[in-house]
Amino acid sequence: MYKKIKEYISNNTGILIRIDDVADNMNWSAMNKCEILFDKYNIKPLLGVIPCNQDEELLTHEKNKKFWTQVRNWQEKGWEICMHGFSHVYDRETNKKDYFSYGGRSEFCGHDYTTQELRIKNGLRKFRKEKVNIRSFFAPNHTYDKNTFSALKKSEIVNVIDGYGLIPYTENNLNFVPQLFYKEIMLPFGVQSTQIHLNYWNAQDYNNFEKFILINLDKIINFDQCIQKINNSYFSKLINYATKTALKSIRLFR
Ligand SMILES: [Zn+2]
Repeated sequence: MYKKIKEYISNNTGILIRIDDVADNMNWSAMNKCEILFDKYNIKPLLGVIPCNQDEELLTHEKNKKFWTQVRNWQEKGWEICMHGFSHVYDRETNKKDYFSYGGRSEFCGHDYTTQELRIKNGLRKFRKEKVNIRSFFAPNHTYDKNTFSALKKSEIVNVIDGYGLIPYTENNLNFVPQLFYKEIMLPFGVQSTQIHLNYWNAQDYNNFEKFILINLDKIINFDQCIQKINNSYFSKLINYATKTALKSIRLFR
């Protein structure tokens, strides 16, 4: 029995390294340091790439003129390129009516279906033009509504890197990989994704991240491994429901 429990836990424990806000204008010195680290330990992260970045805060960073060549190089290495919004400009207030009740501003939630579909389609067109394959999406500021999900499905994107829980799950015919904490935290059980904002990093942040990677090396998994962990059994649903309730009440997330 003990062996079985141990086996269950190790089969359902893993972390996907999700890097947020990857765009032509970004903190390239931190990104380059991470790339060396990932290559050294054969880590395949998921990069949230903004196809047509117009976020003024991000535009203050240094621009890489060969950005799309760089994205294709990452893709060739087996890194997962994920679509992170379209322009990353928040132009709606969610008033906490977003799907995960995070609140805050949004690029998608609150817009009508046509607007959301157009943003997703235009983003995908840009990736296609640059010969980059997209299988997943996560919205700026974690903010979605039913229209976002319908537009994603219409565009044949069925994987969302967001959500509550400790086990990747399917809901409304979409796959969700849980993303729970703002800071890197490895739980003793569960499959989840990080959210790394290296555009805000200082030198100490990199050192902390490197330490986190080294300590958890055997638990780091790639996007495909995450999707293979999808489990919609009653027991998994119960665990995810309990996590959601606990997190909502203690507000560990942002
Ligand atoms: Zn973002």
